[in-house]
Amino acid sequence: MGSELVIFWFRKDLRLGDNLALVEACGAAGRVLTVYCHDPAAEASTRWGFARRGPHRRAFLAAALADLDEALRARGSRLLQLRGAPGAVLPALARALGAERVARVVCEAIAAPEEEDEVAALRAAGLRVKTVWQSSLLDPAELPFAVAHLPKVFTAFRQAVESAGVLPAAPLAAPEALPPCPPFEHLQGSTVDVIGGRGERTTGVGEAVCEAVCEGASFPWWQPDFAGGEQAALAHVARYFAGDRPRHYKAARNGLSGIDFSSKLSPWLAQGALSPREAFAALRRHEAEQGASDGSYWLWFELLWRDYFRFLHLQHGRRLYRTCGLNEAAPPSIHDPAAFAAWCEGRTGHAFIDAGMRELAATGWLSNRMRQVVASYLIHDLGCDWRAGAAWFEAQLVDYDVYSNQGNWLYIAGRGTDPRGGRRFDPDKQAATYDADGAYRARWAAGDRRGGN
Ligand SMILES: Cc1cc2nc3c(=O)[nH]c(=O)nc-3n(C[C@H](O)[C@H](O)[C@H](O)COP(=O)(O)OP(=O)(O)OC[C@H]3O[C@@H](n4cnc5c(N)ncnc54)[C@H](O)[C@@H]3O)c2cc1C
Repeated sequence: MGSELVIFWFRKDLRLGDNLALVEACGAAGRVLTVYCHDPAAEASTRWGFARRGPHRRAFLAAALADLDEALRARGSRLLQLRGAPGAVLPALARALGAERVARVVCEAIAAPEEEDEVAALRAAGLRVKTVWQSSLLDPAELPFAVAHLPKVFTAFRQAVESAGVLPAAPLAAPEALPPCPPFEHLQGSTVDVIGGRGERTTGVGEAVCEAVCEGASFPWWQPDFAGGEQAALAHVARYFAGDRPRHYKAARNGLSGIDFSSKLSPWLAQGALSPREAFAALRRHEAEQGASDGSYWLWFELLWRDYFRFLHLQHGRRLYRTCGLNEAAPPSIHDPAAFAAWCEGRTGHAFIDAGMRELAATGWLSNRMRQVVASYLIHDLGCDWRAGAAWFEAQLVDYDVYSNQGNWLYIAGRGTDPRGGRRFDPDKQAATYDADGAYRARWAAGDRRGGN
């Protein structure tokens, strides 16, 4: 072990297990200071008129940070939480520690524009930064093609991966101990804005209120079993894969309500409390014990979708964030703020859409089926700007993930790589197929509504 001081910056990897970047940070370091930055920009108002991160994800994140701090303390370290944009606060921290003593900052790589700008700002401030790619199931270097030649359609991507037999690496165990952490008490009241205790548990949504309002919620993040953080994530994985739920996954996955119709891995994957390789290892253990099935195969299939949107970012970068996406044609829509507000608030007048939007706002969760239907409605029926919808999902979803959100919205808007153009889901047909008895509409209907159109 060397004598260098490394700052390890936790981003969307709030875990100790299978954290390649953390292993890299600890490798040669004499001391490691683990840090999380609360960037006020994450709470700021968007151009669409609402806060960028809503109360559900804020609370889910706070739980994950508390869990991470506890896990670090158990290994002789602890988490320093700072308020400020990483590009400003990490250089200030390095100066406060004596910049010449800080060898480098290590963090995970995130291939999205704002996250890349954060790293560029650190470098511009004179810090040495090492980023480590780790959020995909498959290592991009193992793909049977360069990411620059990623197939335009998912099926071609999946088939190429499967015929080449590419598989994920086994997850790394959490380190038993971390290099010592330098004292940071003296930073309180200095130029560095340190957040005390165990982080800010400012939920904005009283958990008791949420529990009462959201009875029957599909992802009750205010209950200990669904709390943010690695501990709850691993317990959930163990529970989900121990039974026969994966076997029924393919048949059940288009459900709208309930705990078990889909795996519910996404919130923990999104905050990085769970690594996709860990989830895959559990899937393999399940198959070894209970046999492979259509359902277990389909979970791998969906995890590949998650990877596909990541690799799409490696391929196209910032072009995915243009108004026109990858499509050269300008967006046809004239954004109607009133129609958009009605969509957000679940008062479009279409009971199925409104039920979905109310569930989302009340619980921070929406099934994949409903996400497709409400996104399609905003774009193809209301003619609104798809970026406004993506921003609303970012604000509301507990499992908001920059790659999957952007990728799915582009896909439905017809502004990604898929040559078939956008996807319109007929909301009446969808309601008749997936909510034939109207139970979902009735559950989320406003007081004066009884479901139906
Ligand atoms: C408009 C729209 C926006 C979306 N935004 C997000 C987002 O911000 N964050 C997010 O994690 N997912 C997003 N999704 C994808 C998908 O809806 C969720 O991943 C899924 O519903 C999560 O539930 P689950 O974990 O039970 O998934 P399961 O059905 O059990 O699937 C297992 C895992 O596969 C992955 N997966 C499944 N479907 C998709 C998909 N369509 N795209 C990418 N990965 C997938 C997820 O990691 C998921 O946890 C979005 C989908 C749409 C249509």
